[in-house]
Amino acid sequence: MSGDLKDLLRNYEYLLNRLYEKVPPKSGTAEYELPEPQILRIGSQTVIRNFREIAMKLKRDPQLVARYLQKELAAAGKYDAGSGQLVLNVKVSRRVINQFMQLFLKMYVRCPTCNSIDTRLERKGRVWLLVCEACGAEQPVKPF
Ligand SMILES: [Zn+2]
Repeated sequence: MSGDLKDLLRNYEYLLNRLYEKVPPKSGTAEYELPEPQILRIGSQTVIRNFREIAMKLKRDPQLVARYLQKELAAAGKYDAGSGQLVLNVKVSRRVINQFMQLFLKMYVRCPTCNSIDTRLERKGRVWLLVCEACGAEQPVKPF
């Protein structure tokens, strides 16, 4: 490698490093906090008391989020729109619910292209698309 090329590469690396230092993390995207699930266990059932609140933070219809959870947990459940609670016919911990909600956020809310959470789900026939309002990207997601 010639000296000139080395210098050029070093320069390039230097510029890249500077660029990364200067770019601040995108606001409101890196640390998007979901409410901690409030869990109540009654016998073999688990009640998520603040389910509507979590779904609203995810910007998704609680019925849809409920469907996702029921499928993942392979358990029947019922969302009560009046109280905003979801009752699941399975014993499950707060930690597990929280993990699934984070996964939902990653798969069905956050734009994989620009990291924005200003997105919506669109159904086109049998295909579900995650459409980003911020960058316009469309991404097929695992159907419900
Ligand atoms: Zn985007």
